[in-house]
Amino acid sequence: MAAERLVIIGGDAAGMSAASQARRLKGPDELSITAFERGHFTSYSACGIPYWVSGDVTERDQLVARTPEEHRARDIDLRTRTEVTEIDVAGRRVRALDRESGETYWTGFDKLVIATGARPVRPELPGMDAAGVHGVQTLDDGQALLETLERTTGRRAVVVGAGYIGVEMAEAMLKRGYEVTVLNRGEQPMATLDPDMGRMVHDAMDGLGITTVNGAGVTGIRSGPDGRVTEVTTDGGSYPADVVVLGIGVEPETTLARAVGLPLGPQGGLLTDLSMRVTGHENIWAGGDCVEVLDLVAGRTRHIALGTHANKHGQVIGSNVGGGYGTFPGVVGTAVSKVCDLEIARTGLREKDARAVGLRFVTATIESTGRAGYYPGARPMTVKMLAEYRTGRLLGVQIVGREGAGKRVDVAAVALTAGMTVEQMTALDLGYAPPFSPVWDPVLVAARKTVSVLRKAGTA
Ligand SMILES: Cc1cc2nc3c(=O)[nH]c(=O)nc-3n(C[C@H](O)[C@H](O)[C@H](O)COP(=O)(O)OP(=O)(O)OC[C@H]3O[C@@H](n4cnc5c(N)ncnc54)[C@H](O)[C@@H]3O)c2cc1C
Repeated sequence: MAAERLVIIGGDAAGMSAASQARRLKGPDELSITAFERGHFTSYSACGIPYWVSGDVTERDQLVARTPEEHRARDIDLRTRTEVTEIDVAGRRVRALDRESGETYWTGFDKLVIATGARPVRPELPGMDAAGVHGVQTLDDGQALLETLERTTGRRAVVVGAGYIGVEMAEAMLKRGYEVTVLNRGEQPMATLDPDMGRMVHDAMDGLGITTVNGAGVTGIRSGPDGRVTEVTTDGGSYPADVVVLGIGVEPETTLARAVGLPLGPQGGLLTDLSMRVTGHENIWAGGDCVEVLDLVAGRTRHIALGTHANKHGQVIGSNVGGGYGTFPGVVGTAVSKVCDLEIARTGLREKDARAVGLRFVTATIESTGRAGYYPGARPMTVKMLAEYRTGRLLGVQIVGREGAGKRVDVAAVALTAGMTVEQMTALDLGYAPPFSPVWDPVLVAARKTVSVLRKAGTA
């Protein structure tokens, strides 16, 4: 019997995790796997780009988990520099364009995986194509930025966007000796936090020597006679720049899927069932940054572009297309990042998310330290907690602080997933020794304070 044909569009986290898992389950006699990747690289960590640009990671290849050759050695027909330009759903085939030769051809499939990721938001403003303006979405982008930095003698960097990519890139440019200005359209940096927590990030960035301009809507980019960027203009003034890094956010890359009417959610991502099968399509799966995921706390789908999800999606898809079984139940919205030694973490709902889905809640914010107060190196940490009014169910946690702050959010992520109340959280048996935490861990202190706020509100 001829091998079943699996075709994958996109050769990074979701696509190649799916390929690898399917190959683990089925050999090439049973399943042929063809993966199309329009870029040069496969299975690379875009997450590592800021640390490569900063110099913390010295070699680009350290960010590549598995090269095309390594995939090919596992009987995966990996076609780099080849873009899928069309899906023929009824005819079960995709059209591919070889970007080197210009040749186009059709490849048939029995099962299709769409793992096309996300594309960076790049507003159509005057001057965006000036030399020295860079995105950081792919390794090619990172390489182009590094080449610009080698050629540029000026030391003024403007980062557009103050989400996690923006703040990580601000750190990278600072470490490379640039004078950094971050232009942020929002009220505070890190809009994934509530503004009161975002304010702490702003203050910390100030302390590091990074200028953050909030409420700055970029209106264009000016360049000199040589075509190189000279300044970024905003609705409130202009900022001189020798290099500009764009970190404005991403949207799901669903051009192919949209063209053939595959189902998309309110935020433009593909919709799937729990097995990551595209809703209503027996033989098509999708995962990673091109899909929407179920937010288990808010109870609705959202587009959240994170590598941690993409890898899990790929694993689930690979299990299902390889004849095994896997599901992806959803997310609670956990994310962690840092700017220099300031760690920033969140999980669950912000105040505005809770309001948007009609939840009543209380909040509590506490200050603590990452180690026992008397232990050398104890540094401050702020934890904000949201709990549902009346039930006391945990709704969200945000943490900003120094060493040890970021990954503390994982305790809250587990509590959220388990549907725990803040009262139940106060009794969690967390590890304690002075070098690791105060005797009451900051997350437990926040839970206790939230319980007392609930009591005062007469709801617990
Ligand atoms: C600077 C940066 C830092 C990040 N840091 C973190 C972090 O700390 N933690 C975290 O969880 N996540 C992080 N992320 C997000 C993470 O990198 C992504 O969520 C993850 O890469 C998504 O994987 P994916 O496979 O869905 O999509 P992608 O990695 O975008 O891969 C999709 C691939 O599909 C290819 N493709 C698209 N269309 C076609 C087509 N028509 N034909 C052929 N090929 C196609 C693209 O070339 C691309 O290689 C970061 C991202 C960036 C840019």
